[in-house]
Amino acid sequence: MTDSALSRRQLEETVRELEAAMEETRQWLALFHRALICKTPPDPEVVTEDAHRMSRFGRWYSTNRDDDIFSQPAFATLVSIHQGLYAHAATLAVRGWKDDSVPTEEYDALLHKIESFNEQAGRMARAFRAALSDLDPLTGTNTRMTMEKELLREQQRMRRSGRPCSIAIADIDRFKSVNDTYGHQAGDRVLSRITRLIEDTLRPYDSIYRFGGEEFLICLPDSGPEDARRVLDRVRKLISETPIALDDAESLLVTVSFGVAQLVPRRSLKEITERADRALYEAKNNGRDQVVVWTAELV
Ligand code: GH3
Ligand code: MG
Ligand code: MG
Repeated sequence: MTDSALSRRQLEETVRELEAAMEETRQWLALFHRALICKTPPDPEVVTEDAHRMSRFGRWYSTNRDDDIFSQPAFATLVSIHQGLYAHAATLAVRGWKDDSVPTEEYDALLHKIESFNEQAGRMARAFRAALSDLDPLTGTNTRMTMEKELLREQQRMRRSGRPCSIAIADIDRFKSVNDTYGHQAGDRVLSRITRLIEDTLRPYDSIYRFGGEEFLICLPDSGPEDARRVLDRVRKLISETPIALDDAESLLVTVSFGVAQLVPRRSLKEITERADRALYEAKNNGRDQVVVWTAELV
């Protein structure tokens, strides 16, 4: 899934940890200054060799370093600033304690590293927060606002490369009766489980957007109608065979219908989504739990 490969949970955790890292660095700097001003032995959190690894930020990083998110170069920069900062502070703290004089430029360099760390962490926290605000709070999928921008980009790409691209509208079957029978909260749970199932079954370069209440728009780049049908049929089948557990140990089976249309150069996105909607209507009429591809007969 294009930029949305990071889940809402990962983004939230990342923002939280980056903000905590800035706060932790402020407190850690206070420990550094306190020992120097009060002439007490330097704090272990400042001078032990693996202090940076023992910090909250360091532990978070070393526990999760294999996650995709850490493959972003901005993280490598941040981690390297963090290590440099701790190593530099440890040297100065020991020298200060031994009453060796510390050149002002050495101290200024430390402050500069702190500033760099906070700037970099702050910039990243803002970027991840912005990505988060584009995600729907219940399902973690992209919202309709992002969708319009990204579909236009896909349409231009398709125009340039001549490669096909399909979109689909997915709509949960008889969802109203799920709410009516099990309550709205159970309905919310079903909605977010189905989203996960769709996301997990799509290919990495497909995208999903929350289109309406219980409707999603799926964008399938590099896919003609038959490729789209094949991918979506796999999704459809998996959903129909996966019991969704509700709170009270009950579980239920839910199905989803799909309407597919091709992005074409001379039609607006509105017209293309109307075609997908028309195909979806056909899927509902034909008995639900199926994928229907728009054709000219379905005007
Ligand atoms: P169909 O098979 O024809 O699609 O039947 P349906 O019952 O799914 O269709 P309908 O459009 O009548 O009902 C959609 C329902 O989805 C009604 C609405 O209460 C529910 N819904 C929409 N958004 C949410 C949501 O965020 N949470 C929950 N729990 N329900 C929602
Ligand atoms: Mg609907
Ligand atoms: Mg529905």
